[in-house]
Parts: sequence; structure tokens; C-alpha cells
Amino acid sequence: MTITGSCLCGGVSFEIDEASGPFEICHCNRCRKVSGGSGMPVIGVRKEHFRFTAGEELIRTYTAPVLYRPPAYIVPFCSVCGSPLPLPNDDFDELEIPAGLLDADPGIKPDKHIFVEFLPQWDSIDDDLPTFTLEQIYKHRTGNDLPPGFTRKQHGTS
Ligand SMILES: [Zn+2]
Ligand SMILES: [Zn+2]
Repeated sequence: MTITGSCLCGGVSFEIDEASGPFEICHCNRCRKVSGGSGMPVIGVRKEHFRFTAGEELIRTYTAPVLYRPPAYIVPFCSVCGSPLPLPNDDFDELEIPAGLLDADPGIKPDKHIFVEFLPQWDSIDDDLPTFTLEQIYKHRTGNDLPPGFTRKQHGTS
């Protein structure tokens, strides 16, 4: 099953063979700015299941200042239309795809909300999905407690 995706202008297009997940809706301040919404839905896809079909040369990246420690928050985007885009990274076996770019059903549904303490006041979570704060998602992913210095304030836009 091949699922295609593209940016707003169509200059950059890609396809995936399979969406492995997770499928998270991230409400962190940075994802909110990138998406312009109360959260950004992103789907995890293994690198071997992803390929560009056009326009990779149109992609530019913005690297936000590191808040705690590397890796930095990197935003790949189309230099023509500004859509956020996926971009494989040598450091990871998976990449994150902004779900709204897909042109067909990836076959999986969102499985959790993360960074829920950053949800803007004008929105609320009305589904039954599990919710994770910064502290909880860190523990979920690493098995460790949040190191000192990770605070909501630091995570905010600076
Ligand atoms: Zn574009
Ligand atoms: Zn985020």
C-alpha cells in the first residue's frame, strides 16, 4: 500500500509504504507555531518506507535553538509554499510526517496527545486518547525521570 503526500504547491512530493506509528498530536509551543494550530499531528514512518518522488531540492530547514540538549528541533519546509515537510535524518531510523500532508488514509489513527500542558486556552481535548505532559512523555520514551532544568518555562518560545 503506497500512500502519497505533498506540500501545498505540490512541488515536493513523497510516498510511504507503511505508517508504523506512533501517531502523536503534539501541542508543544514549537509544533503549534509550525502548524498554526493547537497541535500538530505527526506520524512515525521507518526510513526504508519513505521516499521523495519530486522536489527534494526545494526543501529548506530551520533549526531552532536547543532548549535542553541535542538533537535540535528542526523544521523542514517547502521554500515555495512554506508547508512543513518530512526529512530523513542520518541520526534516526524513523522520521516524522506531518499527517495533514498525506493524500490518503495512512491506516492508523492518532494514539496520544503529548505536551498537553501547552494546549492553548481556546482549545480542549475532547477525545479519549491518552495524554502525556512533557514529564510523562519523557519518562514514557526514556524510562527515566525528567532531568533537572527541564521546565515548562524553558520549553516555551524564546
Ligand atoms: Zn510547496
Ligand atoms: Zn512538538
